[in-house]
Amino acid sequence: MAEAQHLDTPQYDAVVIGAGFAGLYQLHCLREMGLATTVFEAGSNVGGTWYWNRYPGARTDSPSNVYQFLFTDKLVNQWHWSERFPSQAETERYLNWVADQLDLRSDIQFNQRVDSAVWSAENACWIITTESGAQTSARFVISCMGPLSKPVLPSFKGSEAFEGIIVHTSQWPQQDIELAGRRVAVIGTGATGIQVVQTIAAEVQQLTVFQRTANYTIPMKNYPYAESEPLQVDGAQLLQRTRQTFGGFDFDIEHRLWAEVDPAERRATMERLWSEGNLALWVGSFAEQLMEAEANEAVSEFVRQKIRARINDPELEQKLVPTDHGFGTHRVPLETGYYEAYARDNVQLIDANEEPILHLTPTSIVTAHQEIPVDVIICATGFDAVTGALTNIDVRGRDNRSLADLWGKDVRTAMGMQVHGFPNLFITSSPLSPAGAFCNAPTCVQHSVEWISECIGYVQNRGSAIEATAEFEAQWVAHHDETANATLIAKTPSWYTGANIEGKSSRLIGYPGGIPAYVEACEQVKQNGYAGFSIS
Ligand code: NAP
Repeated sequence: MAEAQHLDTPQYDAVVIGAGFAGLYQLHCLREMGLATTVFEAGSNVGGTWYWNRYPGARTDSPSNVYQFLFTDKLVNQWHWSERFPSQAETERYLNWVADQLDLRSDIQFNQRVDSAVWSAENACWIITTESGAQTSARFVISCMGPLSKPVLPSFKGSEAFEGIIVHTSQWPQQDIELAGRRVAVIGTGATGIQVVQTIAAEVQQLTVFQRTANYTIPMKNYPYAESEPLQVDGAQLLQRTRQTFGGFDFDIEHRLWAEVDPAERRATMERLWSEGNLALWVGSFAEQLMEAEANEAVSEFVRQKIRARINDPELEQKLVPTDHGFGTHRVPLETGYYEAYARDNVQLIDANEEPILHLTPTSIVTAHQEIPVDVIICATGFDAVTGALTNIDVRGRDNRSLADLWGKDVRTAMGMQVHGFPNLFITSSPLSPAGAFCNAPTCVQHSVEWISECIGYVQNRGSAIEATAEFEAQWVAHHDETANATLIAKTPSWYTGANIEGKSSRLIGYPGGIPAYVEACEQVKQNGYAGFSIS
């Protein structure tokens, strides 16, 4: 690591933060361009989301054909996925294999959490300091920390004296936690909580689930790929296809208009998409269902009926069937045996609104109605999504402006790629881009990384710094808001709107205009010599 006195000339061309999907590909691209690049990774290994989120039942909700790198034959069809929706362990193994195939490890510094990044206008470089106090400098910084990496942990009175284990799902220890035969509480029933509950219900002695909001779900159709018949894809074709579909999958939205399709045909379409056992009913259906209340209610009721059919207890039905928001306005989880878990004698579902947790004792959770003995409390309570990872770092741009202060008041970006006032800082999985929330992650990661790499290549021959102009950023924010405000998602509180974090600026965090429109906007900027960005 560089000595502080040498920081006035950049030690690296680029520093990448994070070694998950985005960071690995970003390192590969920049190295291929001949740029001296290093990656800082807080974990002890590669994997990002798939390194940290090792909770029971963690697996992708995207099928393996599109949840992988498709940019090179060196990787495509060389890794044999064992099932349609791979587990955390398999996805983590895959990313380790990618790191080895592309020989990336020598340029990754593990156990290095970045503490601050400060722009030096004088030297046109970033000074990066890690938690250990070590410093280096780089011309460019690329944030590859993923949209969901800063956990939100509830605070409970009495937690210091609790003698059991309290763990957030994204901080699950490497050595695992023994749950068999223990009394476990799960707090939260988003995509994560649902996976945990359905996985551990049969194994634990007693399971108590605290639910604040019931979610719509779709049954996952998972199946193994035989070793004799591994999944085979045409990488180049599939990569192109994923950039032409609304959600970055290999299926697109329904292009017929809701109003022009008769009710029987709408129903048949919903049934067909439902039976796919993936996210097609959410991001591969009629566009109107996420924009118009009537269409949304029709599909919401369709899903409610499906859920009701799985529950034989009226009290449970009332708790588990969502009625306070429309289908798809929250992230729709895929599930396997989730509702059946609640039919077990050892599982209790508590409505956390009606019966909140009052405090903990050394051995129990106390609510308004009961004391529940517990050994392990699993917080599936979500994340300070999309902005949290970067605002956790003291990022100072031109004139010492703080990114955390700026985003604390108003979350803004220029196409998600940059923020005005922060030259040479690029962001992947960023606010106001689809990658932040509405995209099959590897699709958008590959696209963003390629755009950023080409942009850096362009700047290198023309100057030392690039920065989004205030005008272009304002234009993008206005376009984003117009697109977002046409959706029901923006009108429904969730992590998509920042509503899960008190005081967080409320703007739909991801661009909901679809991948093709976003890719085209990025392409136009590039074709026009990075119009909207100034190079100095
Ligand atoms: P989440 O969707 O934000 O869900 C958090 C849950 O915790 C919600 O049910 C929330 O209730 C509840 N909660 C938060 N604080 C609480 C408190 N103090 N008391 C009681 N309940 C509380 O978080 P997540 O489930 O971790 O999922 C986040 C995102 O990660 C997903 O939307 C998805 O994008 C991604 N994910 C993907 C997969 C996959 O691909 N398979 C799996 C897991 C996660 P409210 O809804 O009432 O706020």
